[in-house]
Amino acid sequence: MFSCWLSRLYWALSKPTGRTKPLIWGSLSRSLVLSSQRRIPELSSFVARTNTCGELRSSHLGQEVTLCGWIQYRRQNIFLVLRDFNGLVQVVIPQDESAASVKKILCEAPVESVVQVSGIVISRPPGQENPKMPTGEIEIKVKTAKLLNSCKKLPFEIKDFLKKTEALRLQYRYLDLRSSQMQYNLRLRSQMVMKMREYLCNLHGFVDVETPTLFKRTPGGAKEFVIPSREPGKFYSLPQSPQQFKQLLMVGGLDRYFQVARCYRDEGSRPDRQPEFTQIDIEMSFVDQTGIQSLIEGLVQYSWPNDKDPVVVPFPSMTFAEALASYGTDKPDTRFGMKIVDISDVFRNTEVRFLQDALSKPQGTVKAICIPEGAKYLKRKDIESIRKSAADRFKQEVLPVFLKASRNWNSPVGKLIMEEQGLQLIRLLEVQEEDVVLLTAGEREKACSLLGKLRLECADLLEAGGVVLRDPALFSFLWVVDFPLFLPKEENPKELESAHHPFTAPHPSDVHLLYTEPQKVRSQHYDLVLNGSEIGGGSIRIHDAELQRYILATILKEDVKLLSHLLQALDCGAPPHGGIALGLDRLMCLITGAPSIRDVIAFPKSFRGHDLMSNAPDSIPPEELKPYHIQVSWPTDPEAEKSSLNHPCHPES
Ligand code: ASP
Repeated sequence: MFSCWLSRLYWALSKPTGRTKPLIWGSLSRSLVLSSQRRIPELSSFVARTNTCGELRSSHLGQEVTLCGWIQYRRQNIFLVLRDFNGLVQVVIPQDESAASVKKILCEAPVESVVQVSGIVISRPPGQENPKMPTGEIEIKVKTAKLLNSCKKLPFEIKDFLKKTEALRLQYRYLDLRSSQMQYNLRLRSQMVMKMREYLCNLHGFVDVETPTLFKRTPGGAKEFVIPSREPGKFYSLPQSPQQFKQLLMVGGLDRYFQVARCYRDEGSRPDRQPEFTQIDIEMSFVDQTGIQSLIEGLVQYSWPNDKDPVVVPFPSMTFAEALASYGTDKPDTRFGMKIVDISDVFRNTEVRFLQDALSKPQGTVKAICIPEGAKYLKRKDIESIRKSAADRFKQEVLPVFLKASRNWNSPVGKLIMEEQGLQLIRLLEVQEEDVVLLTAGEREKACSLLGKLRLECADLLEAGGVVLRDPALFSFLWVVDFPLFLPKEENPKELESAHHPFTAPHPSDVHLLYTEPQKVRSQHYDLVLNGSEIGGGSIRIHDAELQRYILATILKEDVKLLSHLLQALDCGAPPHGGIALGLDRLMCLITGAPSIRDVIAFPKSFRGHDLMSNAPDSIPPEELKPYHIQVSWPTDPEAEKSSLNHPCHPES
């Protein structure tokens, strides 16, 4: 009956580019087609319509149909465009006396009112077809109409909605959801999750298990939300992930677990994070790192939308050390080059003072990145602001060097670089005509991390000038492996904390170092990175209670009593096991090209963790707090408290 079920299922949408652009209802063609579709879903079963608006074509000519939808707009009281989730269709408003009541309903109902119309599918008169509309060859000759609900109040026009501020969109989220972009995002998300479920459960025998959201505090890791209980002084915690439960399911012999899991982290205001978010959470028994990696590659490939280029597997892999050295970050964007290069050897005998100083220190290095055509695209003020922010924010000096560029802004080092050094730099950094080299010196990690940030800033600047560095159609997956098991704590670098979480197993070849130089132990932790964002992470777990106890108590100085149930379980015949969690919101955000993860979540929280529609969190009268034995201690200066939570680039700030 239908040529392509999803072009029928969803209204036509445009192919997303790197940034979300407003989609025009029914005018563009983008079908949500996922791999290996098998069934055509029945979209009009059980309901008061025979068809959806967006599915009607010339093949329906002469059919009597009943449609339900929203009035998108009306033209001269002659035509009305009706919209449902599947698209738009033109309805001809009858003009003859005998249909006066139908005309009255269709002409008087305000825009966005909900109506039901019945009529015949007819051809549009020659010359009046609209090739931009998938239903543009036909229209509906209405016989009867019913007003199902009049739209009395509309704070803005739906078609303009994407132009409104995000705060307003969040306040009227139920209207924002009517936009074609939000519908596309949520429907694609639903379909991908369905494919993931199919791949995991039907093809690979995973069991979907729900784990509790009322739990207790887990040591280490992210801050958890607390939930009061009726027992004085006792609180639940919302789990930051089902980590303990998924391991316990392995001890329980479930063998392969999966869950679309809601996780909660009370990390305060952080851009593009949500206090509640969703993970595709996975755990397997008797598996090693390569087993998990192959599973995930298959999962991504199987659930990948067909309107994107197919995903190529296996994904490339990079060690943590290499990622930091070449990209200055553990989540490198490998869609473009501009890698960090160590040029310390070029400057062993330099006259330049700050390079000399840096190299005389034990961890001292000189590092550089080469910005392709930087002399052409970066303005003098761009370089100045890069230098200033490096000095202010990172206490680091950055110098631009123009080796082959015709333009040279009298770089101070330029003059001090000897000819031989210049030639070596050109060779090491593969400098071409009009490139700019950014050079910094200092302690290895600091220098790399700074250049890693500048690499991304310069990419933005080049792209603002029109250079295409990061092709929006390109999805560059990368495994980052061989992380250290522990990292020095930020607030007290003498103490160690887990780089992933305390249940991660050490690398088999480094176990002996645990007892002597724990900071040198690598772990069996792996992260999945997509286009420079971490979209997943996991590890092979410790299944030996003694080792787990040693790491918790001796290295991490945690209270093992909090985890006695887990330690006991490990002692009861826990199989070797490992797992991973994929961040579904971020993955969907990257796939749809949405500007924020809020655009792929139906009802997200604002930057400050508020639901702008309902105003949650809300206050509770003191008497309702009594059963929980808690009292509010009000801040002395609520205004100061409020402004400390604000952020300049977000609604609500
Ligand atoms: N629970 C971990 C996380 O949320 C993922 C894992 O190790 O499987 O990051």
